[in-house]
Amino acid sequence: MPIDAKEIFQMVIENQNKLKSCSRHDFSIDITADRALGKRYRCSNCGGEVDSIEKYWYEKGLEHSSMS
Ligand SMILES: [Zn+2]
Repeated sequence: MPIDAKEIFQMVIENQNKLKSCSRHDFSIDITADRALGKRYRCSNCGGEVDSIEKYWYEKGLEHSSMS
């Protein structure tokens, strides 16, 4: 059974709400362990999901903010 667009849209909104409510993400859960490309990670605090590019920039941001 195909997932309809409305359902996907709802999932995206829910994911964004989870990510927004989180004070400190920890994207240490690899939910695509069987894949080398198109990887996704889950935050162990809020349960929100991001792709590898979002994870990279979030972690870069943390790194830089802790330098000052
Ligand atoms: Zn989080």
